[in-house]
Amino acid sequence: PTPPGKRPESKARTPIRYGTLGSRDAARSPQTLVEVTSFAAINKFQPFNVAISSNVLLLLDFHSHLTRSEVVGYLGGRWDTNTQLLTVLRAFPCRSRLGDAEAAGAVEEEICQSLYLRGLSLVGWYHSHPFGPALPSLHDIDKQMDYQLKLQGSGNGFQPCLALICGPYYAGNPGVESRIAPFWVMPPPEQRPNDYGIPMDVEVAYIQDGFLTNDVLQEMTLLVEFYRGAPDLVKFQEQWSQDQTYLDKLKGSLASRTPKDQSFTHILEQIYGLLRHSS
Ligand SMILES: [Zn+2]
Repeated sequence: PTPPGKRPESKARTPIRYGTLGSRDAARSPQTLVEVTSFAAINKFQPFNVAISSNVLLLLDFHSHLTRSEVVGYLGGRWDTNTQLLTVLRAFPCRSRLGDAEAAGAVEEEICQSLYLRGLSLVGWYHSHPFGPALPSLHDIDKQMDYQLKLQGSGNGFQPCLALICGPYYAGNPGVESRIAPFWVMPPPEQRPNDYGIPMDVEVAYIQDGFLTNDVLQEMTLLVEFYRGAPDLVKFQEQWSQDQTYLDKLKGSLASRTPKDQSFTHILEQIYGLLRHSS
């Protein structure tokens, strides 16, 4: 397909290699994007395994497509200390605006309850880079380090925290599919405490869910309502490329994350219908 048109929001941020960063430098923009390092490249094993359900990717990809602004949400799942496997089972989109601290507090409390009711633990977070590459910024790296320390918290040994970045409209994506990239941060070496944390590429197993839960469908409907009429809502009837609208783009990306059971297709079509009318 032809590359999508340049948007005013798309900043030309060239990612840099971790090795060229050096020590923390206040003059460096926190928005600087950093390439991820593979465990193999530093002769280490990934300290935990990760499996992510397709419904998680479907919901966070849907959320990320809705607006030209960054979105954020949490990941719920389970950590098995015996198998060292982190299973990500559910995405919890934050229906709040970046910078609206009051609303964010309430939304986070609601998500905490929601996790508890489903018997899930908080296992990570996601956010979007609407028009940029799905690579962590220096700010993202520090934020992830904070989350890792918080989750590791009280005594019970190691518990990992996973970060996902979704880049739906980045012109460098090869096709309609959004890039969803996982990362984890390794603390800098002890003898270099003033360095940035090292963003590590995480190998993930993707598991196709059997069916689309009502839970996820309801969350999608609530998201459409939340962004309805917003100035930064993506206009889904507009052309994304020469032969595809933004709605076609969204559908194409979600098609790779659908469950085995196809009987939900008509419900998804209803949600797409809502998008056609709300933008
Ligand atoms: Zn970011």
